[in-house]
Amino acid sequence: MPSSKGYGTPNAESPLAPVSFTRREPGATEILIEILYTGVCHSDLHMARNEWGQSIYPLVPGHEILGRVSAAGSKVTKFKVGDIAAVGVIVDSCRKCAPCKKGEEHFCDEGATLTYAAKDRVDGSITMGGYSNNYVVDERFAHTVPSNLDMAGVAPLLCAGITTYSPLRHWKVGPGMKVGIIGLGADEVILSTDEAQMKAHAGSFDFILNAVSAPHKLEPYLALLKQDATMTLVGLPEKPPSVDVFSLISKRVSIAGSMIGGMIETQEMLDYCGKHNITADVEVIPIQKVNEAFERMLKQDVKYRFVIDMSTLK
Ligand SMILES: [Zn+2]
Ligand SMILES: [Zn+2]
Repeated sequence: MPSSKGYGTPNAESPLAPVSFTRREPGATEILIEILYTGVCHSDLHMARNEWGQSIYPLVPGHEILGRVSAAGSKVTKFKVGDIAAVGVIVDSCRKCAPCKKGEEHFCDEGATLTYAAKDRVDGSITMGGYSNNYVVDERFAHTVPSNLDMAGVAPLLCAGITTYSPLRHWKVGPGMKVGIIGLGADEVILSTDEAQMKAHAGSFDFILNAVSAPHKLEPYLALLKQDATMTLVGLPEKPPSVDVFSLISKRVSIAGSMIGGMIETQEMLDYCGKHNITADVEVIPIQKVNEAFERMLKQDVKYRFVIDMSTLK
């Protein structure tokens, strides 16, 4: 059994601290990955502190994983030992239902298995995430990584990257369309607090991706949409938002939601990033600074993503 070490917590109140545990032996279609980099996602903080009420302890966070394959089962075809592999938010699903058959495993009818703090479908153990030195996963839920990309900058693509890529694909965003991203930088910035700026862009957007997870009013943004256009939410505010229905019916606009992406689409996103040389802007930290990184994330003191250099885990 691969022995593992990482940073985890025994309960919602304690900071992350060194832990050790074992992972199961990789099966015929599974690989063992020695982790090089893991992104720090805001969900990791929510989960470590049980802010969504679904955490299982002991908990080792981390679902933006990049590493090198150190063992591969006899039936593995996608990877060989020494290859770079990436793992995101889910690591298994029923593989039989309609969404799974379509490669949309994140919408699995039985619920996909999360990379950490979930019940493993193979042996019933609790999944331990990527704030650790290794991971065992079926090759279906691991991705190949274009060799031209900076590896630390790839890690956040596995959660944050696919979460923003998938809705752009699903709502067929393409050349010539005016797209708004709420909560990120862009070519042109409209300050939502500036009424004149908001008015000047009213009714002009083909699509808006709303990545804000803090409570906020939706109506001012709906007013920016063209007739029949959609605003898709990918952030998760703690309290359900309300909406003035008038702001929907007056231009037949839609509010929609989206989360991560399936395995086919995640690979497509990574290949797209390879082709266009896209990675996330990151600040690389040693794992000993992960609690500090959580606090800095809460203060929005990061440009734009923390990534843990796992070689610092001794
Ligand atoms: Zn995440
Ligand atoms: Zn399924």
